[in-house]
Amino acid sequence: MRLKDKVALITGAASGIGRESALLFAAEGASVVAADVNDAGGKETASMVQAQGGKCVYVHADVSRAADAKAMVDAAERAFGRLDVLFNNAGIMLGEDDDAVSTSEDVWEKTLAVNLKGVFLGCKHGIPALRRAGGGSVINTASFVATLGAATPQIAYTASKGGVLAMTRELAIVHAREKIRVNALSPGPLRTDLLMSYLNTEEKRRRRLVHIPVGRFGEAKEMARAALFLASDESSYLTGANFLVDGGITAAYVTPE
Ligand code: NAD
Repeated sequence: MRLKDKVALITGAASGIGRESALLFAAEGASVVAADVNDAGGKETASMVQAQGGKCVYVHADVSRAADAKAMVDAAERAFGRLDVLFNNAGIMLGEDDDAVSTSEDVWEKTLAVNLKGVFLGCKHGIPALRRAGGGSVINTASFVATLGAATPQIAYTASKGGVLAMTRELAIVHAREKIRVNALSPGPLRTDLLMSYLNTEEKRRRRLVHIPVGRFGEAKEMARAALFLASDESSYLTGANFLVDGGITAAYVTPE
């Protein structure tokens, strides 16, 4: 068991990467706190974990609200006595997010509030709990668009993920001597609700697939396996890293036929 006796808080756990990580972390011995704004999905995640014999509680938390961020960390310590792993994974991608000229301030502010401020607030309230546990692992979900400019303009989303990456590096350095490791997980395009509802026609999906060397979208399960490595002591010498799990996108400048 790779996370035996560890307590993990996962945001955005009602679906996609967060749900698959809750299932995998619990199967590897962790007690999991699943946080989300989607109560039906979050409760379903908790039931799925329990059905496979794992420990999981669901907490309603909007990561962009300080009081919710504090409450989700409190819930982890109350339910399981400590916090060892903080997975700041919740994120949104709004359909109206476009280039700088067309994107409204409202879309910019909503996106930055969840994707960037949400990670800040998770750390603000989660790091003191990790300190109380004697150290731990923080995983922040960024994206390949934090490294490469995307062909489809999404100025707010791209800026938010660039911020997550920069913040991850600084957090890693600042907290390194406290035995708190901080790494970014940067997925490529995935077959999850977030992207599939954005690429909502076959044509749009095909256009995105052209850029992926392995020729397919990634699966949330594949991100959960990468997150498991970052969460566990197997990555004990890794901090401040950008773990790109992207089907080769950022390695290529020409995609094979
Ligand atoms: P998803 O839509 O399946 O999951 C995102 C979850 O976040 C949902 O359950 C949603 O309810 C939750 N959420 C949204 N706003 C929230 C808030 N304010 N507070 C708490 N929870 C909130 O998508 P996913 O693909 O699993 O995305 C997870 C992360 O991966 C996101 O940060 C996303 O930006 C990132 N990512 C996804 C892709 C992709 O192609 N799907 C690529 C790169 C990065």
